[in-house]
Amino acid sequence: MSVRFSVIVPVYNEEAVLEVCYARLTEVMANMNEDYELIFVDDGSRDQTPVMVSRLCDNDSHVKLISFSRNFGHQTAITAGMEASRGQAVIVIDADLQDPPEVIISMIEKWREGYDVVYGRRVSRRGETLFKKATAKLYYRLLKSLTNVDIPVDTGDFRLIDRRVCDVMNSLTEQNRYVRGLVSWVGFRQTEVTYHREERFAGETKYPLKKMIRFAMDGITTFSYKPLKLATYVGSFVSFGSFIYLLVVLYLKLFTDKTVSGWASTLSVSLIFNGLVLLMLGIIGEYIGRIYDETKKRPLYIIRETKGFNHEEK
Ligand code: UDP
Ligand code: MG
Repeated sequence: MSVRFSVIVPVYNEEAVLEVCYARLTEVMANMNEDYELIFVDDGSRDQTPVMVSRLCDNDSHVKLISFSRNFGHQTAITAGMEASRGQAVIVIDADLQDPPEVIISMIEKWREGYDVVYGRRVSRRGETLFKKATAKLYYRLLKSLTNVDIPVDTGDFRLIDRRVCDVMNSLTEQNRYVRGLVSWVGFRQTEVTYHREERFAGETKYPLKKMIRFAMDGITTFSYKPLKLATYVGSFVSFGSFIYLLVVLYLKLFTDKTVSGWASTLSVSLIFNGLVLLMLGIIGEYIGRIYDETKKRPLYIIRETKGFNHEEK
């Protein structure tokens, strides 16, 4: 028997929200009156999260657990969930209830109308710092201007995708997963539903600044090589300027008796250029590091334990 809906919930140290998350999702999904599975992907939690999910598995056959051997990251957890999912429509949602589960109902409606991808676009965000809101707003617009793929602004990974889209996503082998970008990249008929992003129900964000920066860089590097071209543009501009300046220097040397003066100008030119060169090296390094990751072809994640998956079904 085929499952109609798969709900994928990546969880990392989410013991504070798990019960309520399960209850809210179950309420929504049970009301659809069709078979569904709730796949919790435990991303190497160090708290009681996997134990709690495992207990849910014992009491509810809809619940399934995939437990990673360590923390592999949010995007990888989503990927593992997609690979294990069997539903004709697959829904990805955060555990912290910032994305209200009830929005899934309107996503499913759109899917029934024939859309293959229904993403949630947040029209407001509550309970997040001004810094996060401002950087997120700026970032999504920067990403859009840098890439040729039409990644909608202000959307996260809260979305519904059709089985066909999920199968295509599963066939992609890239290591640096930027799921929301990949979903846009694969195409198909896409639409949005809008919603208000709530405060985190409990616990704190699992995205400290360091992870956020890494995630943001992944988005840009996997979908654009414009930053690399920056070297070409800045380089040509600077060379042109330098050439003009060289003419001035030669003129002063040959036709006037002005002596070269000032360490300030020499020093500032040297500082600017060294800065630029290091910046460019850094950008190139970001790409090379990721190319290195791809060539190693390590598995994306390692599973420590699964539970609730019925083997005949597979
Ligand atoms: N998450 C994860 N692995 C990580 C970080 C986060 O699986 O390394 C999960 C987390 O449990 C949550 C979702 O990803 O379900 C989004 O994380 P969070 O709500 O902390 O991010 P924010 O909303 O603050 O950006
Ligand atoms: Mg959150």
